[in-house]
Amino acid sequence: MLKGKTAVVTGGTRGIGLAIVKKYLENGANVAVGGSRQETVDKALASLVEYKDRVMGICPDLCNPEEVTNAFNAVKKKFGNIDILANNAGISSRTSIYEYTAEEFSKVMDINVKAVFVCSQAAAKMMKENGGGVIINTSSMVSKYGQPAGCAYPASKFAVDGLTQSLSRELAKDKIRVNAVAPGVTKTDMVAALPADMVERISSGIPLGRVGEPVDIANAYLYLASDLADYVTGVVLRVDGMASA
Ligand code: NAD
Repeated sequence: MLKGKTAVVTGGTRGIGLAIVKKYLENGANVAVGGSRQETVDKALASLVEYKDRVMGICPDLCNPEEVTNAFNAVKKKFGNIDILANNAGISSRTSIYEYTAEEFSKVMDINVKAVFVCSQAAAKMMKENGGGVIINTSSMVSKYGQPAGCAYPASKFAVDGLTQSLSRELAKDKIRVNAVAPGVTKTDMVAALPADMVERISSGIPLGRVGEPVDIANAYLYLASDLADYVTGVVLRVDGMASA
């Protein structure tokens, strides 16, 4: 479904991001795996050795426009262009409002929102020049409901939805589609770090009767990146088994 396309996946070293990387590789794309450290990028690349001619690693500071532009130029140099940007890197937090520091709030907003802006800007410039592209952001079910702790996290995902809808309008004329996927509770390290009783409580209330697997989310990323979604932009696609707050 993605033969001949090139994708950048931020936070592609594990969890949902690594599932997106694998899904895109299985479907014929060239993929640049983004991570925060060379060591974790190398570990991810080692697990993708069967695709070694179509995969590379990058680890820019996602909030630094110059580093991101340099990394994206390296991708363009190796694979010819960037057609798909999956803004997946993100961090969570469950801190109470009474304990929250301004620094922690900024850290969450930086990686979850500012990085989406910086990477989208750098990719959109290339995509515009090349006649189009696709940007897919990672929202969350909490962007619909909020959550009862860690207020920066839901606030950041509300912002991701806002960026998605605004950029879809601004970039449509350049044939760049911008959508988001809003996962529900998904079995990754981020969820493993939550208290078990919390995961249990959330899971038992999900109408489809289970938490999501990373591949459930990756399938949505595949659809939105593919030509099947040619007329789809500005959408925040829930992939959560109809979970609610
Ligand atoms: P994870 O912690 O397993 O992976 C996060 C990824 O982001 C890692 O690859 C990590 O290297 C990268 N990352 C974190 N900080 C970074 C930084 N400063 N610079 C570069 N990369 C950085 O998490 P996950 O569960 O796979 O989450 C992926 C995305 O899905 C996040 O945006 C998260 O908010 C979202 N999400 C996850 C769930 C869930 O239940 N797991 C639910 C809703 C939304």
